[in-house]
Amino acid sequence: MHRPRRLRRSPALRNLVRETHLNPHNFVLPLFVSEKVQKRRAIPSMPGVFQLPVNEVADEACAAQELGLQAVLLFGIPEQKDEQASSAYAENGIVQRALQAIKAQCPDLLAITDVCLCEYMSHGHCGVTRMDGEGFRILNDETVELLVKTALSHAAAGADMVAPSDMMDGRVGAIREALDAGGFDQTAIMSYAAKFASAFYGPFREAAESPPQFGDRRSYQMDFANAQEALREVALDIDEGADIVMVKPALLYMDILWRVRERFGRPTAVYHVSGEYAMIKGAAEKGLLDERDAVLEIMTALKRAGADIIVTYWARELARWLRE
Ligand SMILES: [Zn+2]
Repeated sequence: MHRPRRLRRSPALRNLVRETHLNPHNFVLPLFVSEKVQKRRAIPSMPGVFQLPVNEVADEACAAQELGLQAVLLFGIPEQKDEQASSAYAENGIVQRALQAIKAQCPDLLAITDVCLCEYMSHGHCGVTRMDGEGFRILNDETVELLVKTALSHAAAGADMVAPSDMMDGRVGAIREALDAGGFDQTAIMSYAAKFASAFYGPFREAAESPPQFGDRRSYQMDFANAQEALREVALDIDEGADIVMVKPALLYMDILWRVRERFGRPTAVYHVSGEYAMIKGAAEKGLLDERDAVLEIMTALKRAGADIIVTYWARELARWLRE
């Protein structure tokens, strides 16, 4: 008779044979920096998450580093939005200023920037939009040009890594080429390679003030029914020069995460998104489950499924819990 329970008898035995270990270095903390607030503003749909003014973002980032984290992912909320997303690539834009502040105060912290246009577009779509009869189109190559300008301006302001999240075709290759030509051959690219059009982004859109004013994002983000297409998307981004590939959202897409990690063997990230966060927060607030236990189980499961890097709003708490 086999007795697998023999190795589950005590905490020491369980630790001895544990296959997956979390480390604060696995986590990336998203930070929202806003030109529209003078002091930190709570985001009601995401308890514990704030919009920060630029003069607080460096303190927040450096405090995260002191907790043991080594990377933040910056999202900007500009004062001005227009149809060319011009605040996204302005030299004194909100993300650019946040980068300078962070790099001055804690230069070793990895500053990753979200590269997209939706927060900067008056219509809230991730690309340049053209009305087309009753409907509208998102123009791919025109959008890529603006994404390239945005990525370059982030690199110039000190970003260690840019993370295009728009899902336009060919943007990773265009950004890589422009970074290299601009003298930024050491600036890495983490591509949102398989980003699905998901119902679980809702709370984020409140945090980033980026809901589309019309239509939806299904002509550029992926259909959640498709796994083979996700692998093709990842292959394209790797081919175009992505250093790290990301799957987003996390829990419903662990099958994709697993296949991507197995098939390509590249550093693989997963984004545990706002809706996934809000669900657990809501259940914990109602006393339906224990937040700490649930979060540690989720993060361990994501790592077990192949995530090297997990973007999560719990990064700070995880760093604390893992030290206890
Ligand atoms: Zn976007």
